[in-house]
Amino acid sequence: MGRTATNLVLLGAGHAHVAVLRRAAIRPIPGAALTLVTREPRAAYSGMLPGLLRGDYGFDDAHIACAPLAAAAGARLLIAEADGIDRAAGMLRLAGQSPLPFDLLSIDVGGRPVMPPGGGVPVKPVGRLLAGLAALEARLITGDRVAVIGAGAGGCELALALAHRLGSRTRVVLIGRDRAVLPGAPARAQAVVRRALAAAGIDWLGGVDAGPLHAGELALSDGRVLALAEAFWATGVVGPGFLAAAGLPCDAAGCLRVDATLRSTGDARVFAAGDCAALEGNARPKAGVWAVRAGPILEDNLRRAVAGQPLRRWRPQRDALVIMSLGNGRAVAWRNGLSVSGRLAWHWKDHLDRKWMRPS
Ligand SMILES: Cc1cc2nc3c(=O)[nH]c(=O)nc-3n(C[C@H](O)[C@H](O)[C@H](O)COP(=O)(O)OP(=O)(O)OC[C@H]3O[C@@H](n4cnc5c(N)ncnc54)[C@H](O)[C@@H]3O)c2cc1C
Repeated sequence: MGRTATNLVLLGAGHAHVAVLRRAAIRPIPGAALTLVTREPRAAYSGMLPGLLRGDYGFDDAHIACAPLAAAAGARLLIAEADGIDRAAGMLRLAGQSPLPFDLLSIDVGGRPVMPPGGGVPVKPVGRLLAGLAALEARLITGDRVAVIGAGAGGCELALALAHRLGSRTRVVLIGRDRAVLPGAPARAQAVVRRALAAAGIDWLGGVDAGPLHAGELALSDGRVLALAEAFWATGVVGPGFLAAAGLPCDAAGCLRVDATLRSTGDARVFAAGDCAALEGNARPKAGVWAVRAGPILEDNLRRAVAGQPLRRWRPQRDALVIMSLGNGRAVAWRNGLSVSGRLAWHWKDHLDRKWMRPS
């Protein structure tokens, strides 16, 4: 009698799982029955999100259809939101649906921005951001002010894209906890972004913390109160609460602690990659590039785990190239303290993003 297949459940169509499924489509994982569980039928690629908001890309350019992705890999697709893991029973709990049994569970569900209770639109999930923006556009009146909170690369890109999209009838203000935009980036890249923000008419408020948004008013830590039509939160990432609630070891932000093989430090059946994972002793910044890079290692180790073979250790590079779009066909790129900006940087980003979306 043949061995029963190992139930390998991939939770979330994040960047690492897209890589896993693409590789499994070329070389199936022997002995595995694959299921992809994900909340939306089309997975957003946030590298192209600012371009989508500006109108450089259409919805399909910036989203990956999960059905063909899963079908090519021979995986079953379940559109569902996971809200718990019953580790004793080996079941993934799904909102409004029957729980799903797993032998191995790989998690790539990303994270959400840190935001206080109250109003405002988080940048993730992307579907909620797009819906929040559409609702805002329907009620905006000339002179309204909109804030983006968080001045990392994602927040700066979002502010620039919103200023372009909403036009001169709306004032965009970017708020950051640090005095400088893009904390940790080279000074030249910070200066380029400051100039781009000023040219787009965006007000920069640095060195302040934003409180909750209540009744259209946002209180700042320096005592000022801003009247806003909306606030978009692009602050640091936290993991989904159901990981820690399952008793899995997590870091302070609720991201699943994994060792260098991307396996949970608390449960040998569970793997994780991307923003929802915290790599022990080598924490990676919360950026899609690291989720993409984890993909091949994750795929190899899931394959090995199914076969009962020893796992490979991931030794990520120290640094990664960051390319941030500025709008108007320009971008700024930096790595290892060096930075370049201009049209070529934008073409390079556009080329890399399109290549990721449509690998040949
Ligand atoms: C405006 C903006 C621009 C950015 N630009 C860049 C960039 O240019 N380069 C870069 O490297 N990074 C960029 N980032 C950061 C990047 O978005 C994240 O680091 C990246 O998306 C993380 O990938 P991931 O695979 O961890 O998860 P995600 O891409 O967030 O994917 C998670 C998937 O899991 C699904 N999911 C989530 N929860 C559940 C659940 N409970 N049940 C079922 N499914 C679930 C979601 O539907 C989604 O498909 C940007 C971020 C923002 C906000």
